[in-house]
Amino acid sequence: MSQKIKCSNGMLTDVASCSTLAMSHTAGYTTPGGDDRKMVAGHSAHIALEHWLQGSDTDAAISAFLADYENYSNQYVEAKNAYHHDNLVRILDYSLRAHALDQMPFEVITTEREIEATLVDEPDCPVILVDRADGLVCNKENGSLWAMEHKTTGAAVTDHTWVMQWRMHPQIMAHIYCWRAEGYDVKGVLMNAIQFNRIPAPTDTKCRTHKIETRLCWASHIHQNLFEVQPSEDAYQAWILEQTANAKKYKRLLLGRGSVPQEGLTNGHCGHCHLQEFCYKGRNAYELLVTRDAPSWITRSGLYKED
Ligand code: SF4
Ligand SMILES: [Zn+2]
Repeated sequence: MSQKIKCSNGMLTDVASCSTLAMSHTAGYTTPGGDDRKMVAGHSAHIALEHWLQGSDTDAAISAFLADYENYSNQYVEAKNAYHHDNLVRILDYSLRAHALDQMPFEVITTEREIEATLVDEPDCPVILVDRADGLVCNKENGSLWAMEHKTTGAAVTDHTWVMQWRMHPQIMAHIYCWRAEGYDVKGVLMNAIQFNRIPAPTDTKCRTHKIETRLCWASHIHQNLFEVQPSEDAYQAWILEQTANAKKYKRLLLGRGSVPQEGLTNGHCGHCHLQEFCYKGRNAYELLVTRDAPSWITRSGLYKED
C-alpha cells in the first residue's frame, strides 16, 4: 500500500530543534497552560483580515472578528488588557479603514489557500509540506507576485529588530516554496503586521506619553507595518536543502527506523522547551500514560543511530 507523510513547516522546525519534541507533538502531547490570548486573538483577527482582503466592508470584518472572539474575551481577558475585544476592535477598525483595499499597492488574487507541495519525492513514501498563506497578491505597478502574511503581535511592528527577524524565517521560505510549487513565481512575502498594544480608551483623559488629551492622540498609538521580505535565491535554496533533510529525518522517525534522540540536550533548546519536565525525569512515560496511551517511540532508546 502506498503511503505518504504530510507535515507542516512548524513540525519540521520542531524536527530541526529536537526529535523528541517533534514526536511528542506528533503524538498530540503538549503541556497545558500559558497565556493563549495572543493566539486566540490572532486567529480571530485573521478572520477579519481575510474579510478585508476579500473586499468586505469594515463593519462586516469587525462583526466577524467579534463573533469569533468576544465570548472568549469576556471570559478570560481583563477590561484594561490590550487583548480585550474593545481595545482590539478599535485597533482593527482604524487599521482597516486607514488601508482601504482599493488604495493598496496590490491586487488580491486569492486568500487562505492550503497548498500541498512535495518536499521529499521518494516513491515508497513521499513527504508533503502542507502550508497555508493568508493570501496571494500581485503588485499593481510591476505585476510581481507575493504571498501575503498577516501578523498580529504585542511587539512594536515598526521596530527594526522585529522586522529583521522575518528576513530568513522558515515560514517565509515555506510560503515561497509552496506557491512556486503551485506554479506562481512569487518574489517573496508581503507582511502585514498590526500591533496589539493597549491604546488610550475613550474613558482615559490625558495621555501619559503625549501629555495631551487622548481624544487628540489615540490614533497615533495604532501601528501597522506593510513590508516586503524577499530572501536571496541562495538563502531560499539553502532552506530547501535543510528542510528536505529535516523532512527525511521526520520520515525515519515516523517509520520507526532508528531511535528518537534528544538533540535539545546539546543545542540548548531544552532551556525553553515546554517538555522539559518530561525529559528531566528521564523521558519517563508516566505523565503521558496518565492522560493518554504512551506512543510506542517512548520505549525506544534515546541514542540515535543512523539507518
Ligand atoms: S526538553 Fe529537550 S530533549 Fe526534551 S523535548 Fe524538549 S528540547 Fe527535546
Ligand atoms: Zn497619546
